[in-house]
Amino acid sequence: MGTVYNFNAGPAMLPPPVLEQVQAELRDFQGRGMSIMEMSHRSKEFEAVNSAAEAAFKRLVGVGDGYRVVFVQGGASTQFAMLPMNFLAPGATADYLITGAWGEKAIEEAAALGNANTAATNKTEGFRRVPRPDEISLSPEPAYVHLTSNETIQGVQWHTFPDAGGRPLVADMSSDILSRPFDAGKFALIYAGAQKNLGPSGVTAVLLRESWLAKANKTVPTMLRYATHVKNNSLYNTPPSFGVYVLGLVLQWIEKAGGLTAMAERNGRKAGIVYGAIDRSGGYYRGHAAPESRSLMNVTFRLPDEAKEKQFLTEAQAAGMVGLAGHRSVGGVRASLYNAVSPEMCQVLASFMNDFARKNG
Ligand code: PMP
Repeated sequence: MGTVYNFNAGPAMLPPPVLEQVQAELRDFQGRGMSIMEMSHRSKEFEAVNSAAEAAFKRLVGVGDGYRVVFVQGGASTQFAMLPMNFLAPGATADYLITGAWGEKAIEEAAALGNANTAATNKTEGFRRVPRPDEISLSPEPAYVHLTSNETIQGVQWHTFPDAGGRPLVADMSSDILSRPFDAGKFALIYAGAQKNLGPSGVTAVLLRESWLAKANKTVPTMLRYATHVKNNSLYNTPPSFGVYVLGLVLQWIEKAGGLTAMAERNGRKAGIVYGAIDRSGGYYRGHAAPESRSLMNVTFRLPDEAKEKQFLTEAQAAGMVGLAGHRSVGGVRASLYNAVSPEMCQVLASFMNDFARKNG
């Protein structure tokens, strides 16, 4: 097989050195004569992997003792419901800032369980940018304020988080977690499905401020209570152990590469290469997001018509570039440039885009 350039939106590319280590340890993890997925989650080997992953996550985002990280199952979609189940008390209201399709899914779950208020949205403009501060109207005392840091489908990202004025701020960071430094101390809770920037699907990372747990509803089923996972170090029941192990290796890879500052520099450079190809195409490619809200993770754009988009995707695939089709709900092209994607891959894509526009424009 020729070289494959993986631009999948999730599950997505993993860092090659991580895959090599997984392969090397697959038949014999630390001299135990078996892989980590074949041993007890209560073994000292797995417990070490699990606590090292929690510690590395906290180091990377720069939080200390007041925060906990837990690894749970059910994907970010389960978090859409778990969050209001735990923190949206009867009679209270939760505020949602909607910048795309995932935020809409999140508020739907909250609205099924209690009062959910759309504190900002620009759906009528087609979700091309995040709201300006003057377009956000928060409730006086919401249970929390929820945002989606990066909308994976529209390719719209918050570059400066809004000021929630002391209200508990919650973020779905599924598609840009650990891609850049940010002030984690501003957030009461952050969740992210692992399958884009953190590891394989099946693990969801949740970072939460421990003191906020005191406010949580106590009548939620055991597995859906954050407190259960915090109290048991993510080992209340059998965790997705192989996924947590791979996630731990990805965190080591990020730390070795220089942490979030290094990721942000590399991701900015990568996105610059691909957006540059859009901007220099003389209008042949039309970016979906407004320049100030462009996502560094998911670059979304259209071609002059759907036939050309189809041809673009077919020719890209023949040249080894896979995963470039836009989400089925919006069409077009989407290049996902998560942490593991290299600047060289972005260069290959940009050159292909230049050639395609020249031949077909
Ligand atoms: N939120 C965002 C921002 C996402 O990109 C996705 C998945 N693409 C989800 C939530 C849903 O995640 P999951 O499939 O892990 O439930």
